[in-house]
Amino acid sequence: MASPEDVVTSPNMQRYIDRSTAYLAKRDAYIRDVVKKWKFDTVAVHGLYSVEDAIEDYQGSIIEPVFMSTSQAYRDSDEMAAALAYMIPTWCYSRIANPSTYYYEWTLALLEGYGFSGETSCCSTSSGMAAIMTALQPFLVHTHKSPGEPRNFVATAQCYGGTFQQFNVRLQQERGIECRWVEDPTNLDEWAQKIDENTRFLYGELPSNPGLGFFDIAKVADLAHSHNLPLVCDSTVATPALMRPISHGADIVVQSVTKSLSSSGFGVCGAVIARRGIVTNVPNDEMKKDFALYIKYLPNRDSGPNLHPLQAVMTLNDMRTIRSKMDQMSQSTMKVAEWLEKHRQIESVQYLGLPNHPLHDLASKYMWLVDSEFDPAYGGKRVNRYGHLMSFCVKGGAEKARQFFDALQRVWRATDLGRIKSVATIPAISTHQQQGEEGRKLAKIPPNLVRLCVGAEHPDDVIADLDQALAKVR
Ligand code: PLP
Repeated sequence: MASPEDVVTSPNMQRYIDRSTAYLAKRDAYIRDVVKKWKFDTVAVHGLYSVEDAIEDYQGSIIEPVFMSTSQAYRDSDEMAAALAYMIPTWCYSRIANPSTYYYEWTLALLEGYGFSGETSCCSTSSGMAAIMTALQPFLVHTHKSPGEPRNFVATAQCYGGTFQQFNVRLQQERGIECRWVEDPTNLDEWAQKIDENTRFLYGELPSNPGLGFFDIAKVADLAHSHNLPLVCDSTVATPALMRPISHGADIVVQSVTKSLSSSGFGVCGAVIARRGIVTNVPNDEMKKDFALYIKYLPNRDSGPNLHPLQAVMTLNDMRTIRSKMDQMSQSTMKVAEWLEKHRQIESVQYLGLPNHPLHDLASKYMWLVDSEFDPAYGGKRVNRYGHLMSFCVKGGAEKARQFFDALQRVWRATDLGRIKSVATIPAISTHQQQGEEGRKLAKIPPNLVRLCVGAEHPDDVIADLDQALAKVR
């Protein structure tokens, strides 16, 4: 941010600054004394948009208004100068900020930070891939100002195909930044052996898409911190309704909000959520202090991966019911997984909720339905929930898997997940096609693997569709 010395302050400008200081103090008190005391569902429904905000600023609109406007006008040059120097809260220009995305960002910061004793902030992005890219770039700068400086990062090989390509092609092949894949993320020694003095961050996707890989967040975060590195987690599949990595030690969470967080499927969006005060070996105090706002107001201002305000408000509406949707869809997925497991045409089923899954116990340590202990339906007990992504292998190889897939009638064939409607894909020919056979082996994706994301239909109807499709395999 511009240092105030760069801007000549006049008494008029000082009035704007004083007014903003009072506004921020009031907002922080509201977060501390009101919002932080709410249960998860209340935060998801209201976020930071209050009755008072609505009446004072938005003509009482009960839903956050969509600010379809490129830019903000200022009262005079003093207000403009203070705003553009980030001396007062501002949205200036929609590439930098916007009131609609502001409410989206606060809801996500509060949901990922639910139950966490520290503070969190969020930077919205136009997609999950933009979230990953913009969250990682600041760690990859040349700190010694030598263009040949070696840099590497350590990441779970089981990850979404787009992430694999971003790391392998865009960062490693095109920019010479070494990606060191972790093949078994439950093995702490494997992580540790891959870290050296040129490592910039540890990155893990969990549960992973589509293989349901998982690791011990607290242990990997401790390892990262012992090397003065941040842990970045892609927690898209879990959503904050089931798991919040920051409260277990992660520094940064990236979300493809496109997925379960906005189950309607209206559009693509992403977010970077970070704790205030991240750990990093990059000498940049501003970035350490408030990572998400740092990337929002500086690097992302200059590269422009921003979210459209209409999408922000549509997603806000989706997120309000995330807890109950994740509960229902997780329960349905469990039922479908149990049914598939017993089917003679199915070779194997990967779902973390199945007690015989090798990662079931580890996942059960982290994946809980938030606030289930306050739900009378669960008798005052916390209940585990494992999300609505699962995968399974059809017996007989790739051809049989395709016959089954082509015979689906109600489950949609699409490269998508997290929807309110059940959707399936074959990752080897779609989401993970570009990384090639070798890359798929590394990520443990066989050609007969089907990924299924169970929606909010009645599970019996999903099972009936799977059953009739399996019956058509010859
Ligand atoms: N992370 C995970 C786990 C994903 O599944 C995806 C997309 O499928 C992404 C990131 C990328 O998100 P987006 O499609 O919003 O760019």
